Amino acid sequence: MNNEEIKMKIVEWQISGFVHPLNCIGENGCGNTMRPIEIEGKVILQCLGCKKIQKYIPEIVLNTDVKALEKDIMNKLEKGK
Ligand SMILES: [Zn+2]
Repeated sequence: MNNEEIKMKIVEWQISGFVHPLNCIGENGCGNTMRPIEIEGKVILQCLGCKKIQKYIPEIVLNTDVKALEKDIMNKLEKGK
């Protein structure tokens, strides 16, 4: 995956509403949403609130097909009616 693809994956995850978005957590975390930015050729996360930087991007965000997951959930909801 190139940086553009990584950023797109993160954005899809963050706006999905079907998965829990990556928030600013940990020590002094403000709880705001993180967004992908590129620094020195690497994609990292930055908090929209306090601007804190997180270098670690969870594997699941990059490995999950969020769109397929959404479809799957919607199908299950429809069948549950
Ligand atoms: Zn923050």
